[in-house]
Amino acid sequence: MTDSLARELACIDCGTVHPLGYRLECEKCRGLLELRYDLDVLRARGPALLAGGGLWRYAPVLPIADPAHRVTLGEGGTPLLDCPRLAKVLGVRSLAVKFEGANPTGTVKDRSSATGVAAALQFGFTATSVVSSGNAGSSIAAYSARAGLRSLIFAYARASAPKLLHMAATTADLVLYEGVYDDLITHWDRLVESRLFFDCGASRNAYKHEGKKTIGYEIAEQSGWRPPDVVVAPVAVGETFIAAARGFREMRDAGWIPRVPRMVAAQATRANAISRAFRSGRPLEPLKIGYTVAEGLAAGNPGRKGEWVLRLLRDGRGAAGDAEDEQILEAQRTLARTEGIWAGPTGVATLAVLGKMLAAEELDPAQSYCAIVSETGLKTEAAPPSRAATAFDFDSLERLVEQRLARA
Ligand SMILES: *Cc1c(COP(=O)(O)O)cnc(C)c1O
Ligand SMILES: [Zn+2]
Repeated sequence: MTDSLARELACIDCGTVHPLGYRLECEKCRGLLELRYDLDVLRARGPALLAGGGLWRYAPVLPIADPAHRVTLGEGGTPLLDCPRLAKVLGVRSLAVKFEGANPTGTVKDRSSATGVAAALQFGFTATSVVSSGNAGSSIAAYSARAGLRSLIFAYARASAPKLLHMAATTADLVLYEGVYDDLITHWDRLVESRLFFDCGASRNAYKHEGKKTIGYEIAEQSGWRPPDVVVAPVAVGETFIAAARGFREMRDAGWIPRVPRMVAAQATRANAISRAFRSGRPLEPLKIGYTVAEGLAAGNPGRKGEWVLRLLRDGRGAAGDAEDEQILEAQRTLARTEGIWAGPTGVATLAVLGKMLAAEELDPAQSYCAIVSETGLKTEAAPPSRAATAFDFDSLERLVEQRLARA
């Protein structure tokens, strides 16, 4: 059994320390809270502390004390795939893809759902809820079912059919909302105080957020504790980015890795509040947004986590960029054809942004890169290629094979 080394919750704004427990904000200043761990034990024991596979291998640096609460569908332990052909296309020395599509519901969300739903059990809740563009709803519904909890899922009406099918299958309480995420989230956030459900949203819950930290731990461990120079992470509200960055800092502070990678925040141009603020050096301004093919990144108002991402970017020599829908779809095709990795548009926004920033000479091609590809392509909906079919006899089949595969 691996013990959790979580010790306290610290306010990211005023530094006030709170004991562990169900708490979403600082009692003094209403700032967001971040979990703190026993660094002395992490330093003394090193990675030998880790045991088992998947996300819960990192249980010592996750805030779930009782192993009985550690709900799992087999999340985490996703492959870090070296991509030499794609590196060549982009003109970089080396590129690895952290493929989060390999998670049980096909997205990075499963990491935060595992710790979020585990925390719901830990704090005695019987229901969860989330407002989602599709992926979070799909994941929270599945993990809640797995934990024997009810889930009330609010999902984007334009979410793809596979996502809606998955949600309808895993929860009895699926509600579609009109408009975009931003239109509902403020109202929903106020209802969290009712305590009728456990907050599985992305804006405040430190316990849920924490699961995504394991992506940083895995990238480091899979690189032999020498992570790549630069990690490109997708940013909607900023949970993935903040958590991954914190994981790297924790490992550095514990002496597990020599230095933290440079972090690049990747957004869709149609929902680029953070990259716009960072690149212009101006304060974060919420945007009124419409549809983007990167559905999972469609947050125009990233709120306080957005501010947190900006702070990390500004303090930590980070970088940010955004890509147009057409560039995202192009990156999706290129990744599939050059490396055989089929990812959804939200998942490849990182690669589209990486390509764009390299072309603009904003990033150094001599460095080593890791791009987080955050979702599978199997949950997106698109018109299939032509269904025109052929009837073969042996001769026509042989002709076709020879034509297609003849050596040049
Ligand atoms: C939610 C999501 C993200 C990132 O969202 P954050 O709130 O910034 O963590 C990235 N990719 C996919 C596929 C998602 O579903
Ligand atoms: Zn505070």
